[in-house]
Amino acid sequence: MSGVLPTPAPVPTPESEEFWAATAQGKLLLRRCDDCQTPIWYPRGFCPVCGSFRTSWSEASGRGVVYTFTVVHRSGVPGYREALPYVVAYVELEEGPRLLTNIVECEPDDVEVGMAVRVVFFDTGKGSALYRFAPAPS
Ligand SMILES: [Zn+2]
Repeated sequence: MSGVLPTPAPVPTPESEEFWAATAQGKLLLRRCDDCQTPIWYPRGFCPVCGSFRTSWSEASGRGVVYTFTVVHRSGVPGYREALPYVVAYVELEEGPRLLTNIVECEPDDVEVGMAVRVVFFDTGKGSALYRFAPAPS
């Protein structure tokens, strides 16, 4: 499908294992600091703001907005070449973190900074799914 990048299975680390397992259930998890409440992205076992090791998982709403993006028109990489043109974006979640991602389910020319998006999952077939974002219903 045009605009959709390949969906290779990630190799979970001990710190990301639960995150990737949740993606297979259609859930986007965020780690949150139990001491200063900062949402932590990417998944890791300590808070990058206050240094606390007291963190726990919570489910993100899956809603956010396009913070910035680019439309990729050229690639020689198999799998990526067939997806041209595709959108690579930073999406800012409602909870605050910004995720590097792929915008799908719309024409690249329709993507705008500030556009409301929602998470969608693409099954890797190996017990995980990759998160991408699509325009949110208005
Ligand atoms: Zn903290």
